Amino acid sequence: MSLNNTHEIDIVKTSSSKINSVDFETLSFGSTFTDHMLVCDFREGKWGKPVIKPYEPFLLDPSAKVFHYGQAIFEGMKAYKDDNDEVWLFRPDQNLDRFNKSAVRMAMPEVDDWIFLEGLKQLVDIERDWVKKGLGNTLYIRPFMIAIGSGVIAAPSTQYRFMIIMSPAKSYYSGEVKVIIAEHFSRAANGGIGAAKAAGNYSAQFYPTKLANEKGFQQIIWTDDATHTKLEEAGTMNVFFRINDTLFTAPVSERILDGVTRKSLIALAQHEGIKVEERSVYVDEIINAAKDGSLKEIFGAGTAAVVNPIVGFSYQDTYYELPKLENSIALQLKDKLTKVQYNMAEDSFGWTV
Ligand code: PMP
Repeated sequence: MSLNNTHEIDIVKTSSSKINSVDFETLSFGSTFTDHMLVCDFREGKWGKPVIKPYEPFLLDPSAKVFHYGQAIFEGMKAYKDDNDEVWLFRPDQNLDRFNKSAVRMAMPEVDDWIFLEGLKQLVDIERDWVKKGLGNTLYIRPFMIAIGSGVIAAPSTQYRFMIIMSPAKSYYSGEVKVIIAEHFSRAANGGIGAAKAAGNYSAQFYPTKLANEKGFQQIIWTDDATHTKLEEAGTMNVFFRINDTLFTAPVSERILDGVTRKSLIALAQHEGIKVEERSVYVDEIINAAKDGSLKEIFGAGTAAVVNPIVGFSYQDTYYELPKLENSIALQLKDKLTKVQYNMAEDSFGWTV
């Protein structure tokens, strides 16, 4: 799409790094950003030259379409450092692919592959000191695109900004996670934007999640909008259920995000000989399994936490507690995936870059 064939990125480095003022032991997720960011604008039907420059705020017209119509998409991924100080990305091609699918769904231009991938690699390279060694330390990477064209007419913008910002993170532990199964609210509908990483999907979750928090639950297990009988995602993660020794997870659809962690865990589990079924999982089925003791585990899967075990769930005001297990498949898979991400185990799938 772009006429920029040189594949060059301008680089303007900061004269004063913030890194020495950051306490890497007490980071709270997503609130500290590295010294540089990548910016690339789309105007007159093409992407301009990307630039890596010092991290700073920027000005937009108050009528910019992102503010009014929410044309905004993003990705979430991580960089990891191994014991030899090599920095690794995990399946960045999958994030690029999903980003451009989100762009199409939101009537935004697809970003050129090289801008996303080369931009990512060069930015991570410049910020490699921000990636700390040790399991759990990561650099969280947030590519995003917003509509910057001005005018409050409800039509797609003709101008967009693609950016990558990065935030150092410690291992993510959200405490014990209890969830509530959605009986009224939904995060996505057939024909909607649930399969896109569109900003509006997340703001739409805030209110029902706030109500769940007030009742003492950390997250919601979203059900299908039409019948509220199928279990689809947990908070902002894909969700797995272990009944006896089989894992079940909903198939990706128009309502479910095609998670990179989800598909990686499925491949790893199958490689380990663990049975995985991708099919609709019903509320009734999980309640019956909880009652007869065959429901062993529920866990969320996503980039931030990798695997987030769920300790119990509530449905129609009844709380069901999950057993405390010695041999958690969730934790076993988390360990395997983490070791691949940190280059501590053989990457037999060719996932790390
Ligand atoms: N579902 C939703 C709604 C999400 O926001 C995320 C996080 N990106 C996921 C699932 C998990 O996706 P991934 O494993 O690619 O992080």
